[in-house]
Amino acid sequence: MNDYLKKAYAFDGTVRIYAANTTNLVEEAREIHDLWPTSTSALGRLLTVSVIMGAMYKGEQQLTIRVESDGPIKGMITTTNPHGEVRGQIGNPHIFLDYNDKTLKVGQAVGNGSIHVTKDLKVRDMFTSTAQIQTGEIAEDFAYYFTKSEQIPSAVGLGIQVDEDNSVNAAGGFILQIMPGCTEETIKLIEQRLNEIPKVSEMLKDKKTPEEMINLITQGNHKFLEEMPLNYKCNCSKEKFESSLLTLGVRELEELLEEDGRIETTCHFCNTNYQFNKEEIKNLIELAKDNTTTDKKETS
Ligand code: ZN
Repeated sequence: MNDYLKKAYAFDGTVRIYAANTTNLVEEAREIHDLWPTSTSALGRLLTVSVIMGAMYKGEQQLTIRVESDGPIKGMITTTNPHGEVRGQIGNPHIFLDYNDKTLKVGQAVGNGSIHVTKDLKVRDMFTSTAQIQTGEIAEDFAYYFTKSEQIPSAVGLGIQVDEDNSVNAAGGFILQIMPGCTEETIKLIEQRLNEIPKVSEMLKDKKTPEEMINLITQGNHKFLEEMPLNYKCNCSKEKFESSLLTLGVRELEELLEEDGRIETTCHFCNTNYQFNKEEIKNLIELAKDNTTTDKKETS
């Protein structure tokens, strides 16, 4: 089954629920970054909540989500867009901490710190909102983020099932948000349902689909909207690396040309390797020289 997200409105449009299956994209992240189980679970949860959040915004808005924390995983970052594409990286991919009952100690691995969500609207400046990490278990932290920083009362459920061979058996989750006009009665009912339903990890173990997750929460009191395919996708390119090499400046590029005669860079989101040969570095130096002269003209 391919990863997808299902959107729904519930209780006469006063509640929105987006639920997703992210098994394949989390497994892809595990393969790219050689993740160990607790790192898989931490980054898997962040990738899942990120891609669902991305789908909540319209147009070409890009989201960059950073978890800056003092635990052994040493922070995480994801970027996502409204088209179901997400990528991520983690400070330390090789963390494996678990409790006696074999559940993974994600909260401890993440540690204390804060979440930063940057919205790049591509037309105006970037806008970042921040919230304190509550438990490090990611779901609670984002529920707090939405409620505190975006003033939208929300519930978040996330789960990652890692197999004995460390591969991802199942991954997914949901974001539920209370919209204006929602009655106290509905809120109470939802709180009660959220306490009664199994944890997302249990639902995933039972191979519940996003539709079934939504149905469990609302007990049928919802209307399904569109479905969106989800993918692990990096938007890096040789051109993007060229522009970051240009920022090194003429002198440093000339040094690299003399010393090695080649430049090799790797994208930390997808491990794609980019090589620049002598000719290409010489071209870059010419471009960097042009940039410097233009800068001078602009400042004089
Ligand atoms: Zn990449």
